[in-house]
Amino acid sequence: MKTEDKKLVFLALGSNISPRRQYISQSLDLLKKRFPGQFRVSALYQTRPFKNLQQPAYINCVVECISYMRPLEVLDVIAGIEVLIGRKRSGVKWESRVIDIDLLLWGEEVIQFPRLTVPHHDLCNRDFFLVPLLELNNSLVHPASGLSLAGVLGNIPEDLKTHPEVVDAAG
Ligand code: ATP
Ligand code: CA
Ligand code: CA
Repeated sequence: MKTEDKKLVFLALGSNISPRRQYISQSLDLLKKRFPGQFRVSALYQTRPFKNLQQPAYINCVVECISYMRPLEVLDVIAGIEVLIGRKRSGVKWESRVIDIDLLLWGEEVIQFPRLTVPHHDLCNRDFFLVPLLELNNSLVHPASGLSLAGVLGNIPEDLKTHPEVVDAAG
């Protein structure tokens, strides 16, 4: 492991199939094993479904952790955890899922591969990413635009808002 490969990364988790908290908690346990050391988890937030409005509500959270892997390795790790938890893909965009894990930020880098875009392509439109992200670090800026993410959150249009609310009861 080289120290120059050390990156602070942020991952977003979401589930809207019961038992949502159990799927999130199992995914967090598996992530923790793959990202030893610093590992901070936001509160869990209940959010309205995004775009595909006919779905059940989500539970979302964000993790801050340290990676010594390359970005595409991390993508493979999170895809592997999704499969272990039981994610099935029918090919329908934004369908209900037991777990979705997205890579939001990779240090202050902008990364573009055919199968990986970081920052996440829709980070600036999703309050269910930004609210838990800013809870962990409210001074983050968007690596591509340099805009403060707190300011970006304030500019999300009403029709895209999912109104994240902290949950502590089972769900
Ligand atoms: P969205 O990407 O709009 O949040 P989604 O999470 O439902 O939608 P998926 O079906 O989970 O989409 O992922 C589709 C593909 O997106 C993945 O196979 C992966 O290769 C690619 N991808 C690109 N950038 C990222 C990223 N930052 N994090 C996770 N997956 C990404
Ligand atoms: Ca997603
Ligand atoms: Ca995803």
